Amino acid sequence: MARDKKIIIGNWKMNLNVHESSLYLHKLSNLVKAHRDIEVVLAPSMLALQSLSLQVNLRQFKLAAQNFYWRDHGHFTGEVSASQLRGVIQYAIVGHSERRHVFYETDKDIRNKVAAAIRNDIRPILCIGETAWERSAGETVDVLRDQLIGGLSNITSDELKHVIIAYEPVWAIGMGQNAMPSDVDKAQKAIRRQIEHLYGTKASESLSILYGGSVTADSAGGYLAIEGIDGLLMGAASLDAYAFSGIVEKAHKGSDVAIK
Ligand code: PEP
Repeated sequence: MARDKKIIIGNWKMNLNVHESSLYLHKLSNLVKAHRDIEVVLAPSMLALQSLSLQVNLRQFKLAAQNFYWRDHGHFTGEVSASQLRGVIQYAIVGHSERRHVFYETDKDIRNKVAAAIRNDIRPILCIGETAWERSAGETVDVLRDQLIGGLSNITSDELKHVIIAYEPVWAIGMGQNAMPSDVDKAQKAIRRQIEHLYGTKASESLSILYGGSVTADSAGGYLAIEGIDGLLMGAASLDAYAFSGIVEKAHKGSDVAIK
């Protein structure tokens, strides 16, 4: 998919039960306008996905899983596979820092999930980003390179067309401490350089890269103004219907100050 749309993703994390999720989707439906140039993706809890898939207007919102297991079926008690989610969701978040750091997901798990999503017609949103320690040690570019290689090593250049990358510095997620647009710009350039090295110039230029990490209604415009940033992945702001719908409008209208 070319970079013809901005992608705005709301990660509801472990918030809202099934009933609350349905009410919240109803509220968002009244507030968020559908625009041809914007893809709005909602990632509710696994439990709510099935019912929301029956309620959602797919021209207004797409659905994403926050997680899944990479094998298609078998003896894996408690897990849900991408093949079971096929048809229910259009996107899946893979390698979120909370999965890497709280649940110890490895690069091997993550690359298997990227591949599982693609073979089940689900677009993976591969999250990558450095910790505070790695940042202060000047290792950001190395971490991004390692996580890209780790997450994409099963993926052909044809399959890469379905992958979205989310740059999510770990130190900025859920902390209220967001990155400077200039740092995000440097990171997206480093990601494109690495993709160019792995898959060539065309792949690098057509890759959608999002920013995520404590985005608010006030800070969103600064990231959306970066030429190489194709949208936002938000946690907290996605649970505030007015902030979220306002950010969708900002993405639609664009920004005056473009960072080249
Ligand atoms: C996230 O969950 O990916 C995220 C960016 O969360 P927050 O916006 O709350 O930092």
